[in-house]
Amino acid sequence: MDIQNLKKEIIYYGQEIKKIGLVVGTWGNISARFEDKVLITPSGIPYEKLSEEDIVICDLNCNIIDGKHAPSTELIAHVEIYKHRRDVNAIIHTHSIYASAIAVTRKNIPAIIEDMAMIIGGEVPCAKYAFPGTKELAENIIEVLENKNAVLLANHGAISLGRNLKEAFNVCQILEKSAKIYILATQIGMPKPLAIEEVEKMREIYLNKYSKNEIIKN
Ligand code: 13P
Ligand code: ZN
Repeated sequence: MDIQNLKKEIIYYGQEIKKIGLVVGTWGNISARFEDKVLITPSGIPYEKLSEEDIVICDLNCNIIDGKHAPSTELIAHVEIYKHRRDVNAIIHTHSIYASAIAVTRKNIPAIIEDMAMIIGGEVPCAKYAFPGTKELAENIIEVLENKNAVLLANHGAISLGRNLKEAFNVCQILEKSAKIYILATQIGMPKPLAIEEVEKMREIYLNKYSKNEIIKN
């Protein structure tokens, strides 16, 4: 994909996360890796007003290469994730309600359901609290990330990763659905997590087969 189309995709998914209520107002942000650069939404600009020239281009040292606005205040967290995870090419930070409800308890979401195990890769860890936009928050995310595709941010929201924007957008939705199921299930009884071997098998099927049909097409 060329850079112009990647910018268009960032704007498209920004408008989608707003439309389906994973963010409110200008909060949240989206980025994509392009070669050794990062394309990211500008800080505090409404998703519905974004056009291609508003997307900021940075390097992996957080230097701005091109852009007429300040990049998202969470740029450093995005960059650190790209540096630590070669498999990740897209990141979506949301403030979705059910994920945030769990994030305020500072608990992890256990691996409780099939689609979550497949696309996220198991339990969703909760990163320790740090002030938004800080290097400390980026470090706290990296500390718990491992090979997972989603992390909760204590008293803040969540961050979802993918091999492309379509996958990261799917992760955001499955994360929110899993958080909702977890909260509902705790009203009935004690949710039972999937066994680790089951999670590993599901993840393997997702990566090597299931996601190739539509999410990651060559
Ligand atoms: P930006 O508008 O700067 O991307 O910040 C929104 C946000 O969610 C910060 O955590
Ligand atoms: Zn945020």
